[in-house]
Amino acid sequence: MVLPVTIRSKLAVGLLAITLVLLFPLLLALRSLEALHDVTTVLQKREFAASLLLNKMRAGTDELRRLDLSLVFVHQPQIRASMDSQLTVLSATADSLSHLGMSDASASIGGAVARVASFVPVEYEAAAQGHGKIADSVSTQHLIPAITAMERELTAAESILRDRSSRLVAQATAKTEQARNAAALGLAVAATLAFIISVLLWRTIGSPIRDLELGMAAVADGNFGYRLRVSARRRDEFGHLAESFQSMSHQLTQLDRLKAEFVSVASHELKTPINVILGYLQLIDEGVYGPVSPKMHEIVRTLDSQTRSLSRLVHQLLDVSRFEAGGGKLDLRSTQLDVFLSEIEETFLVLASQRGIDFRVERNGTLPSEVLWDPDRISEVLGNLVANAFKFTERGGTVELHVDAQEQQVHLDVRDTGAGIPPQQLPHIFEKFYQADNQDAATQGGSGLGLAIARQIVVAHGGQISVESVLGVGTTFHLTLPLRAGGRVHDRPRTPNVGVPA
Ligand code: ADP
Repeated sequence: MVLPVTIRSKLAVGLLAITLVLLFPLLLALRSLEALHDVTTVLQKREFAASLLLNKMRAGTDELRRLDLSLVFVHQPQIRASMDSQLTVLSATADSLSHLGMSDASASIGGAVARVASFVPVEYEAAAQGHGKIADSVSTQHLIPAITAMERELTAAESILRDRSSRLVAQATAKTEQARNAAALGLAVAATLAFIISVLLWRTIGSPIRDLELGMAAVADGNFGYRLRVSARRRDEFGHLAESFQSMSHQLTQLDRLKAEFVSVASHELKTPINVILGYLQLIDEGVYGPVSPKMHEIVRTLDSQTRSLSRLVHQLLDVSRFEAGGGKLDLRSTQLDVFLSEIEETFLVLASQRGIDFRVERNGTLPSEVLWDPDRISEVLGNLVANAFKFTERGGTVELHVDAQEQQVHLDVRDTGAGIPPQQLPHIFEKFYQADNQDAATQGGSGLGLAIARQIVVAHGGQISVESVLGVGTTFHLTLPLRAGGRVHDRPRTPNVGVPA
């Protein structure tokens, strides 16, 4: 037998099976109901008719008795005629009983009727000839006992009919019971089978759908390497879907790699011309190519600042693409934590005084003297976080770097009293090129790449980064780094949750 392979055919077969299974109790109940119908028909047609005939004969017998009494005293031919006709009816009725399954009763009642009929002419003749005594004696000694015998036969037939009807009623009751039990049993069996079929269908369809759903969510999340549990070798629609999914994620991986390579190559190629431009601008500014007017100085400075922004962007693009291509290797070195923090402090103190912002580095508790990090990279991360804090904080505000250490981990919090970030945008700020709607509060422009790079560096160190912010009150970035980084560059990092470590 060829088993159905597609989901559509499986569904069709499943539904057909459920329908057939549900038909089973219906058929059982129908069969029992038919049997019940047969019994009630017999009861209605045969038993009821027989009972009517017997009642009619009972009334006929009573009439015979009455006519016999009249015949003894009044010998009129009409009375005899009535008796004859009554006897003819009784005989015919007794005959009819044989058609209703009461042949024995029919014969014995018919015999009794014939016996009564044989005495009627004798009694009539005696009465007609004025032999009242003889007529009376025929009546009391022959005719009345014959009528009584006929009544006994009728009673016996009634009893047989009653017994037979009772048996039929019992049979009907049994059939009803049987119909009910068969229907209940059939329904239970059908419900169980229908349940098993539904579970099987659900397992065939439900779990691959869930798997595909998870796979699509993973791809949407940037995880192109997700492996489906559904085999692409399945011969149904899920097999085709799994195959398409695999080919899609393969192509996306390729595209992602190509994109990273392209960005990497392009930004690398841009670095040299940018450096040449910067060099020439410096030479022009120094007057190497002749006197420079104040206006020219201004233009050269603007060009220099714009070119440096461009250089920063190219540098950041290179960083991102290197990490995405898995080449963001860390240069782990033993670093004096105190010296490292002091360098950051010194770097930003100048900027703080220029901007009129209160900046301090707070060392809490006992800090380890040495850490194993890539100091240039972590300095880049902290520099970015502190620079952002300065960028979004107004004159008179505060920027702090809190440092403490617990259980082989260093916690670094960069807090500011700046513009803050709208809550609905917080989940996105670690995404590449994402900038929140607070750019009006920024003192200078940006590219939206700094935090994406920071996250990659922190994750590569085996650390975590998260953010908390209240609009108009300030922002805090929490950084947790192991004392000794493993140096393994992690797989593509996932978008960190807000307020929850990445
Ligand atoms: P950018 O070059 O734009 O600063 P980042 O990746 O460093 O890029 O930051 C992304 C965005 O996150 C910023 O554009 C800004 O909207 C928001 N942001 C980052 N740090 C802060 C901060 N300390 N205060 C307010 N907003 C911030």
